[in-house]
Amino acid sequence: MQRGGGRMRETEQIRRTWADVVETARRTTADGLVVGTSGNVSARVGDVIVVTPSGIPYDRLTPRDAVAVDLDGHRLLGDLAPTSELPLHLAVYRATDAAAIVHTHAVHATAVSTLADELPLIHYMAGALGGPVRVAPYALYGSDQLAAHALEALDGRTGCLLRNHGTLTYGAGLDQAYDRTAQLEWMCRVWLTASSVPGRAPSLLTTEQADRAAEKLHGYGQP
Ligand code: 13P
Ligand code: ZN
Repeated sequence: MQRGGGRMRETEQIRRTWADVVETARRTTADGLVVGTSGNVSARVGDVIVVTPSGIPYDRLTPRDAVAVDLDGHRLLGDLAPTSELPLHLAVYRATDAAAIVHTHAVHATAVSTLADELPLIHYMAGALGGPVRVAPYALYGSDQLAAHALEALDGRTGCLLRNHGTLTYGAGLDQAYDRTAQLEWMCRVWLTASSVPGRAPSLLTTEQADRAAEKLHGYGQP
């Protein structure tokens, strides 16, 4: 079926991906990683990017609201305007092997983005994001400049902080991208908590310790 602004046939795979994108976006609200319509989520199916629309509360999205664009941002499906952070999402898909992207305004991560150029190595789970998580310099939301800054901060990492703005993580699927956001927010919370003890400074891992954990994390969990 072809609808509205779209010129693509909505396949079963796109329908399923849209349902997963919406579910992930709802999780970001339910878990307190965003407020209102902040943040956005996308997933890649071949050269098609399924993405949340701009400024619509996630609980109002229905199966009929699917939005999809190509890698140049041309609308392939749907009547709703895609997220204002489309340049950011597309830049990451073009430059990395990302299959899904989650952007949030998580509280502790956003706070850390205003305090440091890099999240100090407070915990070995930094390895799950490829190493010490960098902070991309501030740029206007939705701008090409923000996308460029984020790409630089993402070099060798699967996540970064956006100064005075929030988080960006990607993964091989929506669950992995989401989990990386949750881990990043959790590490930021640990660092802020430990750093706020008067007269004390938290111990940090060495890069060697973090690298060893990163290697071991590749085999983490069930074989
Ligand atoms: P959208 O509603 O356009 O996705 O914007 C939210 C946001 O977080 C912008 O940075
Ligand atoms: Zn944002």
